[in-house]
Amino acid sequence: MLRWLTGVWRGASFSIKFAIVILIAGTIIAVVPLLTAQADTRSEAVDRAADKAGVAGNLITGQRQSLTAFVNGVARQLAAAHQLGDPQALTATLAQDAGVNQGYDVVLGVLPVNGRVLAVHGKAQLPAGTLTTTLEDAVVARATTAATADGQPWLLSSAKVPNSDVTVFVARPMDAAFIAAIAHNLATSADPAELAVVRGGHFAAGGTVAGRVVSGGEVPTSALLQALASATPAIVTFDSGPEAVATYQIGNGFAVMVTTPVNAITTSLQPILILIGLILVSMLFIVVVVQTDLQRPLRRLDRAVAALGRGEFDAPVTTGSDDELSRLGTTFEAMRRQLQATIRATAARAAVATELAAAQPLETLLSRVCHEMRTSLLADVALIVVTGSETDDGFAIVEGAREFDHAAYLSGDGPLAEGYRHPGAGAVLLGAAPSSLEAQLGVREFCVAPLRIGTHMHGVLAVAKKHESFLTADVDVVSITAEQVALALERHRFLAVVQRQASIDDLTGLYNHRFLVDYLGQQVALAERLNAPLAILMIDIDHFKNLNDRHGHQAGDAALAAFAQTLVSSVRRSDLAARYGGEEFSVVMANTSAAEARLVAEKIRRNSGHTRIELPDGDPVALTVSIGGAAFPENTDNARELLRLADESLYRAKRTGRNRTCMSGEGSRRRTPRSVVSVVHTPGSVEPGRTVGASEHRRSAQ
Ligand code: GH3
Ligand code: MG
Ligand code: MG
Repeated sequence: MLRWLTGVWRGASFSIKFAIVILIAGTIIAVVPLLTAQADTRSEAVDRAADKAGVAGNLITGQRQSLTAFVNGVARQLAAAHQLGDPQALTATLAQDAGVNQGYDVVLGVLPVNGRVLAVHGKAQLPAGTLTTTLEDAVVARATTAATADGQPWLLSSAKVPNSDVTVFVARPMDAAFIAAIAHNLATSADPAELAVVRGGHFAAGGTVAGRVVSGGEVPTSALLQALASATPAIVTFDSGPEAVATYQIGNGFAVMVTTPVNAITTSLQPILILIGLILVSMLFIVVVVQTDLQRPLRRLDRAVAALGRGEFDAPVTTGSDDELSRLGTTFEAMRRQLQATIRATAARAAVATELAAAQPLETLLSRVCHEMRTSLLADVALIVVTGSETDDGFAIVEGAREFDHAAYLSGDGPLAEGYRHPGAGAVLLGAAPSSLEAQLGVREFCVAPLRIGTHMHGVLAVAKKHESFLTADVDVVSITAEQVALALERHRFLAVVQRQASIDDLTGLYNHRFLVDYLGQQVALAERLNAPLAILMIDIDHFKNLNDRHGHQAGDAALAAFAQTLVSSVRRSDLAARYGGEEFSVVMANTSAAEARLVAEKIRRNSGHTRIELPDGDPVALTVSIGGAAFPENTDNARELLRLADESLYRAKRTGRNRTCMSGEGSRRRTPRSVVSVVHTPGSVEPGRTVGASEHRRSAQ
């Protein structure tokens, strides 16, 4: 039950709970004074009953004292009259004395006279044996209260007749009239009281209790009996209502019992009803106020908190007036915005980190970062300007605005230039002056961060808003993103340098052997996919050893570098010239057939022959080269095989006399050129190679 009640209470709405509390408090306020007043009137009644019982006891004692005075007088009279031996005269005296007590219904008697009791009641002599032995015994025992056989209580007083053995006694019955007389002395109309005499669990004489006449011998109600047994004043409920009951012992087991009604509470039902009505009205009022001013905003807050709990951070918390709850709502809204910004920032950081870690071209990567920044920071424009380096040109990624001349922006005096030159770490918030170039973008506030690693500047990163301002968390995101982007740019630059270093031959500046092999593989695959031709030439300088031997290695190196220049200038920009190794070179030509390749080879050969190479130690020399070529798809569709075939053709060119071109598959069909000179000296400054004969020299010069 208790659990059920607790459950119901927990489930009840706030206003219901509030109403219940008010109702309980109101009821207590209305009822408690009533109960207190009732308790007061009850204890008052008990006190009154006890007082009145005491007074009744005193009145009875007074009666007894007057009986004592009376009986003493009679005793003295009888002693003086010397009538004790004359029963007749004695009876007459007694009758006369008894008659003195007008209105007193008494029994006056003597004992023993001639061994018997002599008594009169009123004026008449009581016949012998009328008095019960109980009354006689009581006289002998000098008791003050006695009962006759019918249970009637009597007040009793006796005195010795001087100089005799005779005792005079007087007895007054405590009958209904006696009781009524005493009660009359106790009660007033404002303070009523009723009286009865009880003895041994029943009424001893006639009286009234709670407005009802009772007679001797009647048994009280059990509630009254219980109150009598406790011997202390108590409240007993009768048919007529609650009354206080108190008793006073008057001897011989008799007690007077006083009952007095508990005063009716003066508070009537009407004020209570008015009070309860007022409580209900104020309760209604409170419920309405609670509902509109407390519960609705609380519900709104509750919904907002629940939304946050579900991870929905986008719904704003609306507030109404300017009370405490609204202020709580405003604070909560600020907290939500901060939280939202922090979450956005965290998500943006993670997204940017993911984008930057992905293996994708630099520009794709940066435009993804721009996109991420713009959406996560709710910005209108996001841009990254990358300044040029030794390997790359500068460029700009712009999202949310048209492309612009980034170089002009960086050299101007607007927010981008200022952010670019910003010496500190992290982002700064800058406005766009109307005169600045950035003002054309139509944005109000820029959050700009330089892309700097150490002292190296890579560019600048910026986001901009048209209408709103950036939050602290946004600035943090821009700072951290700028740091990550700068790192990525630095990594990219480093990779480009390393890659370049790894694929370039130091001496000639041409691509090296490894790069050539990779490139050829890619190009063959591409040609295959595009169904386009591709050719490769292998070029070997004739009798190069001679040049080395004659002029030294340094001169040989210079000759190799010079030949590389000739080679590069002899081929298209789209062709790739590489140093294959030693004094061997290679050219890969996309979209080139074997026939076209042969033409290029011949051009190279011609240009080499025409090129005068200045050697450090003397006269300029010219070189001759042997060239072998192979083509895709004419000769093979395999890159390695292409190389092998070209090499094979080169060796055929060597074998068949040098300073010539042999294409794969041509076999011996081609005529051997007449010129086979390998190192050719320019006319007029002839310094023949060791193995070159004069006749050959002459021929090659033609
Ligand atoms: P052939 O006409 O048969 O090709 O004769 P060759 O002398 O050119 O050929 P060989 O293979 O006999 O000699 C190649 C020479 O090239 C040997 C080597 O000293 C020289 N050489 C290779 N690499 C370099 C280099 O980097 N610098 C210099 N100075 N010489 C090199
Ligand atoms: Mg060689
Ligand atoms: Mg050679």
